[in-house]
Amino acid sequence: MIERHKIDETNFNSPFRGLGGKAGSSILLDERQKQVSVAGANERTIDCNKASLAGSVSQRACVFCGSRVVLYPISDALHLIHGPIGCAAYTWDIRGSLSSGPELHRLSFSTDLQERDVIFGGEKKLFQAALELINAHKPKAAFIYSTCIVGVIGDDVERACRMLEEETGIPVIAVEAPGFQGSKKDGYKVACESIFKLVGRVNNPIPAKSINILGDFNLAGELWILLEYYKKMGVHVNATITGDGRVEAISNAHNAALNVVQCSGSMNYLAKLMKDTYNIPSMRVSYFGIEDMSDALYDVARFFKDDDMMDKARELVKEEISRMMPALAWYKERLTGKKAAIYVGGAFKAISLVKALRLIGVQTVIVGSQTGTPEDYELIKKLCDEGTIIVDDSNPVELSHFVKEKQADIFIGGVKERPIAHKIGLGFCDHNHERKEPLAGYEGMINFAKEIYATAMSPVWKFTK
Ligand code: SF4
Repeated sequence: MIERHKIDETNFNSPFRGLGGKAGSSILLDERQKQVSVAGANERTIDCNKASLAGSVSQRACVFCGSRVVLYPISDALHLIHGPIGCAAYTWDIRGSLSSGPELHRLSFSTDLQERDVIFGGEKKLFQAALELINAHKPKAAFIYSTCIVGVIGDDVERACRMLEEETGIPVIAVEAPGFQGSKKDGYKVACESIFKLVGRVNNPIPAKSINILGDFNLAGELWILLEYYKKMGVHVNATITGDGRVEAISNAHNAALNVVQCSGSMNYLAKLMKDTYNIPSMRVSYFGIEDMSDALYDVARFFKDDDMMDKARELVKEEISRMMPALAWYKERLTGKKAAIYVGGAFKAISLVKALRLIGVQTVIVGSQTGTPEDYELIKKLCDEGTIIVDDSNPVELSHFVKEKQADIFIGGVKERPIAHKIGLGFCDHNHERKEPLAGYEGMINFAKEIYATAMSPVWKFTK
């Protein structure tokens, strides 16, 4: 049986409270002690990349959800969930994922498996449902997701997909993602394998200086900001994977010269598959904050060894920074002294957030992620101020207590962190699925500062406990 240590409220201000520093004072389950660290206080590498602990109530989603959030923005594909209706409902329109064209991705389809299907098998029902949907919506490809119950009853989804592909002539891809088979991170891998099944199916000529953008999901139109930057530099963007994604461009992704990977937690594996098979190099970038955004542009120009492209990148960065600095200085003056807690999906994003917050005078006191690697956490440790709590695969109990302990003024996270912040009367900034303002690029940095300011300084917090 797993035991949670008692919470000792009298020890609330100890810097090691919650970290097992004193017997009886920890809110950490014994098995999770090594997944939390404090910058400057201990040298050991944080334990990560492991299955969530049963009973811990992890903030992570299931394998199926991980695969759907990655594939979902492919807007001219049909996404059919083979399982009980709950799996489809819980992930329906889970991301904003704006499209400049078709919006088929925003519809949620399910085979709605019932008891009878569980006993006698759901393959026939799947075939008929998929065929009917493909005929009705004429998608460019279809993704068929297997959920938990399909993994248990053993429907042969691969075979159904092969038959559908023969019948309809479009790619029909089995996304084998039963929720119990691991964590959200395993779902990312399944999604990468599914996307990879599309790559190489067409051969359209594209300019030599072409890139694929991997790992931006165009939640609030940030992809379009990036496309504008690359256009100004003379870089052709071939496939956007998967934000505002199209089946044909993804099928032609093997013809690009470079994969530029953001949100590496979800897309590194696809970049690896493309490197191994098509010898396409990749680079890891972040589009959040001035520093990382500028580096992303310079790194691409450096890759193509193109002086003209580099000059254009420098000009763009100079212009954007001189435009935004006065506004950022205004926010910095007012926000200095505020403290932030960060808990996001990928640790690479957390790193950019720490830097972006520093730029506007906000100190990060907690940094956590669902899917960070040891290298990510080492980088975070070096980057953060002494005393910053660093946590892998956390849960609501830990996060609420860390936030109170470090007296954070604002919580930055995704959809599942919002209620944690609001329950303890804390301002929340959505940096994931539900946001409506782009936070990437230079324009995004201003939006971010604006949002942090409006949230942290709101008078409403005077009236919470
Ligand atoms: S855990 Fe299983 S049943 Fe629950 S949403 Fe994920 S796939 Fe569906």
